[in-house]
Amino acid sequence: MPGESDFINWIRTQQRSGQNIILPAGDDLAILRWSSDDLLVAGVDQVLDGVHFDSSKHTPRSIGQKVMNRNLSDCAAMACLPVAALATVALPANCNLSYAKELYLGLKSAADPFDCAIIGGDTASWPHPLAFTVTILARSAGIQPITRRHARPGDAIYVTGPLGGSILGRHMTFSPRIHEARDLATRFPLTAMIDLSDGLSRDLAHICQQSGVGAIVESSLVPIHPDAIELSRQDHRPPLQHALHDGEDYELLFTCSGPCDSAIRIGRITAGQGLQLQTDQGLQPLPSLGWQHSI
Ligand SMILES: [Mg+2]
Repeated sequence: MPGESDFINWIRTQQRSGQNIILPAGDDLAILRWSSDDLLVAGVDQVLDGVHFDSSKHTPRSIGQKVMNRNLSDCAAMACLPVAALATVALPANCNLSYAKELYLGLKSAADPFDCAIIGGDTASWPHPLAFTVTILARSAGIQPITRRHARPGDAIYVTGPLGGSILGRHMTFSPRIHEARDLATRFPLTAMIDLSDGLSRDLAHICQQSGVGAIVESSLVPIHPDAIELSRQDHRPPLQHALHDGEDYELLFTCSGPCDSAIRIGRITAGQGLQLQTDQGLQPLPSLGWQHSI
């Protein structure tokens, strides 16, 4: 990209120190302050043009927001608090400075509400579509991180919102459920949690596999998003199928060993293995179709 050094210099003007940031981006490495009783929780996520977004349709700001929000949603999934992020971007050779700035401002606009600093990264140009990766550093901040591994038979299964049809636009504009996750983890006996990126059937299978349990989902309890109904009009697949199998809802899916009045109960964990769907016709297998990320 012409002006790549201008881009890096401009990014440096966007930096700030903070409570946990002793030295922001601009040196070889950034320096963070980390309290001795905090766990460091880290992860990475990438988005690719043509897979997770479509650069001919989506604005650079919304693309930046999405890659940051996917990482923030992973923080929500473990009920931890984001502290800082590192970003790498491979820019298409024809990309200009204002486009690159908009990508960065998208990152920043998603990170700022959660007080998450962008403390470094790397940029390069290449003769291929945009590829964008964010690494997130988070802290447990007084709550033991909720993993996928401790769901037990008899636990109830919950989601935090209606599902399906995110491809109509919500997959670019969702809000990470960090505050909701921290609130839930504080008030209720959560046993496992995941954010719904791959779709309810696939993400519930992840919890079940890692906990060594099965699950029954009650079809009448699954909350269906209006987008799932709209999409059903277009493709004639039932709205429930969209709610069960579409991806990128970015709501939380969790199991709880006691009652929870702050989310929507959709089923229960069982002994044994496999997912089943309870319908008017009885129990049937629930295949983990999930979505293979596509736009
Ligand atoms: Mg996740």
